[in-house]
Amino acid sequence: MPKSKNSTVDRRDFLKSAAAGAAVLVSSPGLAEPQRSEAATTAPAATPQAAAILKMKEKVALATRMLAREGIVGSSGHVSMRIPGTDHVLIGPEDVTRNILGADDVVTVDLNTNQIEGKHPRPDETEIHTGIYWARPDVMAVAHTHPTYSVSLSITKKPILPVHMHGAIFADGVNVFDSVGHVNTHELGDGLARALGNRRAVLMKMHGAAIVGATLEEAFVAAFQLEENAQQQLLAEATGKVEAMTPEDVARCIKQSWRPSSIQKRWQYYLDKQSEDYKA
Ligand SMILES: [Zn+2]
Repeated sequence: MPKSKNSTVDRRDFLKSAAAGAAVLVSSPGLAEPQRSEAATTAPAATPQAAAILKMKEKVALATRMLAREGIVGSSGHVSMRIPGTDHVLIGPEDVTRNILGADDVVTVDLNTNQIEGKHPRPDETEIHTGIYWARPDVMAVAHTHPTYSVSLSITKKPILPVHMHGAIFADGVNVFDSVGHVNTHELGDGLARALGNRRAVLMKMHGAAIVGATLEEAFVAAFQLEENAQQQLLAEATGKVEAMTPEDVARCIKQSWRPSSIQKRWQYYLDKQSEDYKA
């Protein structure tokens, strides 16, 4: 069922801007390839484009496994990437355990949530991702997580404050989307995207969060930083009066710890940690 508000012309313009964003993403330096490739269990790609999509699927699967193993995604969150220059999205499926997700489990949908490809059904909450991709041409990756501490704040409606230096990226606020339950219609997906606005994350009341990035690594790292900041805030509030960082603090912390190299460092940290897990 297509979105009636989006005409064909709007959609074409949208795709042009998505393609422009993709050029930046593809040429972005210093991003690590997945270390534990799933390619050995997946048929070899027939064309360069198919090879590029396979690499993206490996990254979606890898990020999902790492978020699951760290307790951020839980048993039913998902990660997605927009395929640059298209209206297609790669996303983890509905029914595969997150901490064993492989590249060949990842499915392809279009921005109207129609399934294009994949051996499993798309997730019920695909609308979280497509709603955001419609509204935010700058977003190339989305993580839907179930972070315990952050969700606590969605229940009390206490605002998330920048209280940890990694939380500075959320200083412009993290709204709470008030609808409790699955985001599984166009209307709910659009509502969630409106609650997100032009920010980096949105909370879903009594449920989870959606975190966005210009790259998958950005969304992945920011998903951890949202939860770390919420945990720190709750601990601080339990021990005394909390004073959030000042705008000057925010600007300094973003400059110091939200650089491409620091995002890459944190991505690599979880890759290394996963390798260690496998040795154990
Ligand atoms: Zn969920």
